[in-house]
Amino acid sequence: MSIIVMKFGGTSLADINCIRNVANKVQAQYLKNKKIVVVVSAMAGTTDNLVKLTENMSSSRDLKEYDVVVSSGEQVSAGLLAMTLNDLGVKARSWMGWQIPIFTDSIHYKANIDRIETENLISSLCQHEVAIIPGFQGVSEENRITTLGRGGSDISAVAIAAALNANSCDIYTDVDGIYTADPRMVPKAQKLEKVSYEEMLEMASQGAKVLQTRSVALAMKYKLKVNVLSSFENKTGTLVLDEEEIMEKKNVSGIAFSLDEAKLTVVGIPDKPGQASKLFKALGAKAINVDMIVQSSSVDSNATDLSFTIAKTELKESIKIMGAIQKDIGFKKVLTDSDVAKISVIGIGMKTQSGVAQKMFDTLAEKSINLKVISTSEIKISVLIDASYLELATRSLHSAFDLDKELNI
Ligand code: ADP
Ligand code: ASP
Ligand code: MG
Repeated sequence: MSIIVMKFGGTSLADINCIRNVANKVQAQYLKNKKIVVVVSAMAGTTDNLVKLTENMSSSRDLKEYDVVVSSGEQVSAGLLAMTLNDLGVKARSWMGWQIPIFTDSIHYKANIDRIETENLISSLCQHEVAIIPGFQGVSEENRITTLGRGGSDISAVAIAAALNANSCDIYTDVDGIYTADPRMVPKAQKLEKVSYEEMLEMASQGAKVLQTRSVALAMKYKLKVNVLSSFENKTGTLVLDEEEIMEKKNVSGIAFSLDEAKLTVVGIPDKPGQASKLFKALGAKAINVDMIVQSSSVDSNATDLSFTIAKTELKESIKIMGAIQKDIGFKKVLTDSDVAKISVIGIGMKTQSGVAQKMFDTLAEKSINLKVISTSEIKISVLIDASYLELATRSLHSAFDLDKELNI
């Protein structure tokens, strides 16, 4: 059975006219006799408002009930789209995460999908019914509603496409593909025809929100092609696929940035084995991910300073955790810096070409931009800088690595 999975993001479903536009796109596929699963996000701005509501209502971070509230946005979009399709004569029905079911673990607010039971969906598709699924939500084995983390509808779409053995997963959004940098920040960014899983994984994890990071990891695991394309224009999009399918491997194929991280510096850690392990274990126990890490040891004392970055949304929680382990580890104090931006240059060609780091540092030095933390992987170099230099740094690096397209103004 050939199934197509179409996912529509929040901006694509922002109001009644947008939902009608989406319904027309689905209808066009339906008329081609396709078996269709549609995954929807909440209408633009809805999830942010729901998150604010939970924060204003309670400071206790009751994540089980948080998930009940914030998952509701997707439910609204699913119902609205299903009724619009039925009005158009396209047989459609909505399926909540628990009705399918999409089982997740119990890490509320950033749950992982464990398995998807496809029986109900398949029998509905066999009756030529379009299945409309709210993204972002699942159900735990304890029968509680869970959410997959912000941007999680992309994960739902890829996971469902993989579970149904679909040929590809089409992600419809407000840009017409994946660019060399966020086109809203860099007007000279160029659209990529293809990008490898590995590069996209780095781009997403370094801040390019066009695809959620875990959705790319899942697509890579199942070798599922992801097509990113516009909800509003009929244009070819960008294919995310295996590296082997890309002939020309560039040193740098994209620049990503993130303003979502904060830096924590733990000052005066007594220099002995096991300290970093204790510290990161305490964060890990609360499912807090650490990104960049630097440790500097002081020459004239037996203490080290450890700096690392975490998501800004987890800063308060992280400071609390540090407070709880201060006595045990014996460090002096914790400093925080939220006014930081992380910029990364990414490219699979880096595996075999040297000089990328030098060019990156030279370009930033020319603009007198100070580097607070540096981290690298095989196909990426990231630096943490003062947030006020973000735009200058991104555009300068984009030009330095020859990614600018000619603008006909
Ligand atoms: P959706 O609501 O459809 O899920 P998102 O806002 O999550 O959409 O993702 C689309 C946005 O990703 C674009 O509007 C764009 O600003 C941003 N973006 C960041 N980096 C890139 C990139 N390299 N290429 C394309 N878009 C990017
Ligand atoms: N609505 C959720 C969010 O805004 C999930 C998504 O849109 O992908 O994060
Ligand atoms: Mg998104």
